[in-house]
Amino acid sequence: MDIEILSLFPEYFLGPFDVSMLKRAREKELLNIHHTQIRDFAFDKHRKVDDRPYGGGPGMVLKPEPVSLAINHVRRDDSYVIHLSPQGQLLSPAKCRELAEKPHLVLLCGHYEGIDERILDKEVDEEISIGDYVLTNGALAAIVLIDAVSRFIPGVLGHEEAANEESFEEGIFDCPHYTRPEVFEGMHVPQVLLDGNHAKIAKWRKERALAKTREKRPDLYERYKVTEE
Ligand code: SAM
Repeated sequence: MDIEILSLFPEYFLGPFDVSMLKRAREKELLNIHHTQIRDFAFDKHRKVDDRPYGGGPGMVLKPEPVSLAINHVRRDDSYVIHLSPQGQLLSPAKCRELAEKPHLVLLCGHYEGIDERILDKEVDEEISIGDYVLTNGALAAIVLIDAVSRFIPGVLGHEEAANEESFEEGIFDCPHYTRPEVFEGMHVPQVLLDGNHAKIAKWRKERALAKTREKRPDLYERYKVTEE
């Protein structure tokens, strides 16, 4: 997958893509991440990327011309243009899976009060939010989206089933996990995990996942169809 990030502060992205799984994914070219500085497309006399909002009010708005030029500089026939925005659809596992199939994602990161609405109307395929709160800019949201989407790109996790077993995949949380030592500060690993009976382990894991979900996120639990079994 090729990802093009359009932002005013490419410095935000120094680090997150250079460690661990995303670093390896980039090295294996499963994921190619490119950066475009929107300011490079501000061709007016003062190279301004923002201006005051029509109608008054606080803050500055990203001007349409440099954003449009930047998008069209990177756009390909197979591009899918996303504006990271608190007004978008909430990012979900289903959406991550869907986006992982796209050959070319263009991620538009807003700043200040946001981007001139005409850009959203004309150039953007979809708006995506990473939560019902407001960040100072879209760079952090783009990092979250790339990390979450890349887990569904074949080869990124190394073991394909991993992404399918995480929290939310079945509508409930993942089960609790334990590793060595068997006893830590007086707390024992549940015996069922040590006995090697795979059917019992699977049943225990499902029960624990359901119990944790019911306790912490009753809204998810309510929506999940618990069977007699
Ligand atoms: N005035 C906008 C509003 O109230 O809807 C908020 C603008 S916010 C301060 C600046 C930029 O941060 C946005 O254009 C967007 O790119 C990004 N952003 C903020 N919160 C976000 C969220 N929850 N998810 C994704 N992007 C977000």
